Amino acid sequence: MERVIVVGAGVHGLSTALHLAEKRGTGEGVVVLDKQRVGAGASGISGGIVRNFYASAAVHEIVRRSVEVFEIDPELFGFRQVGYIAVVPEAQAAELERIAEHHRAVGYESTLVLGERSVRDHLRAIFPDWRAQGSTALLHERRSGWADPSATLRALEGMARAAGVEIREGVEVTGLEPGSVETTAGELPVDVTVLAPGPWARDLLPLLDDPPALDFHFWQVREGEYVHAEAALAPTDPVVHLDADAPLPGLPVPWGIYFRPGLGRGAAIGGLPLPLEPDCELDPYGPSHPSLGATSSEFDDAVVGAISWALARFDGGRERWTCSSYGAQTCFTPDSYPVVDWVGDGVYAVLDSNHGFKMLALGELAAAEILGERQPALEAFRRDRFALGATHPASASPYPWT
Ligand SMILES: Cc1cc2nc3c(=O)[nH]c(=O)nc-3n(C[C@H](O)[C@H](O)[C@H](O)COP(=O)(O)OP(=O)(O)OC[C@H]3O[C@@H](n4cnc5c(N)ncnc54)[C@H](O)[C@@H]3O)c2cc1C
Repeated sequence: MERVIVVGAGVHGLSTALHLAEKRGTGEGVVVLDKQRVGAGASGISGGIVRNFYASAAVHEIVRRSVEVFEIDPELFGFRQVGYIAVVPEAQAAELERIAEHHRAVGYESTLVLGERSVRDHLRAIFPDWRAQGSTALLHERRSGWADPSATLRALEGMARAAGVEIREGVEVTGLEPGSVETTAGELPVDVTVLAPGPWARDLLPLLDDPPALDFHFWQVREGEYVHAEAALAPTDPVVHLDADAPLPGLPVPWGIYFRPGLGRGAAIGGLPLPLEPDCELDPYGPSHPSLGATSSEFDDAVVGAISWALARFDGGRERWTCSSYGAQTCFTPDSYPVVDWVGDGVYAVLDSNHGFKMLALGELAAAEILGERQPALEAFRRDRFALGATHPASASPYPWT
């Protein structure tokens, strides 16, 4: 039986290990190493939003497959299938039409609404106080929603351990040699190494003999939990992604925010990412980082201003809000889409380019490829697409990775 080491105990490392164990009929010989602990990276602080609002058609099938995983046991995975609505201005309407068409082609039900009045009527049936102006198209994905990241991680960890996978926390991989992996706990023999290191891909890939030329770029993602003194979203409300070109204080034009019910009484709101240097510090990660984990009061002002512009219930100004926002370093491939592929002799990589929970199915597809079954659904995510000029399309949205 081949020995497999998976580097990284986030959603993709755990899911790949679990599916390797399931497909082989045993987890024996499959070891997950994490330099810290399960969920220490992006997976532990994720917003968990699951959406299929992507300019690249190749993603739509991956998201459909991921949602099918969540649908097996939504409670176990902490998945709230409340739906997801992308609301956009005229400049993005044609893109939304193309996305809706492709959703139909891959069997992912969504409702396209066009025209400012129809968009407002659709939103007012859900949010009676909806008042945003200038939105001329929306796409309502009924099967999408959001996952509580800690529940998803717990489920994957529990299933992987139950399948016989060994998960070792506090062991850092420091070298990748043919046939062995160097770690802070000594050298470990290996037949196949799977890299699922989240943003640390930048630091791990150069350990390979002949690393793929991937120029990663980094953004500081900013989001948080916002509690209004009187008003709230309902727990069953859909996730809303609102892109707009209306000028509002503190916001660039066009701008975009996303919001969903929080785990407590508040709303989880995010948006307005900031570019980071490609050599930015990754440790400590996320909210623990003294500067990259912090946001600003201008950011809080801007996002609560934007949600209040859309929903009249949140009137009353910034002083009605209690804000606890944070930032995190996030790592993207050159075209901002995943690379899932062999990257060296006996070394496979699942680099999700920060698309996370909505790409949960990558683990199962990767496991199948590692065991020798090439997966057509992954063809668009090979590393040679950059050399071949076959990269994914850029979106017209304010988010470079949509
Ligand atoms: C603030 C924020 C909000 C987000 N919101 C969403 C969202 O709403 N929806 C969504 O789908 N996605 C979202 N994402 C993206 C998503 O969380 C990530 O894409 C996903 O969690 C990445 O998972 P991963 O398993 O690839 O990596 P990670 O979860 O980052 O795990 C990598 C692990 O590798 C370990 N590691 C690194 N280097 C080594 C080494 N040398 N040796 C051993 N272990 C190592 C780390 O300790 C870490 O635990 C968000 C991300 C952030 C940061």
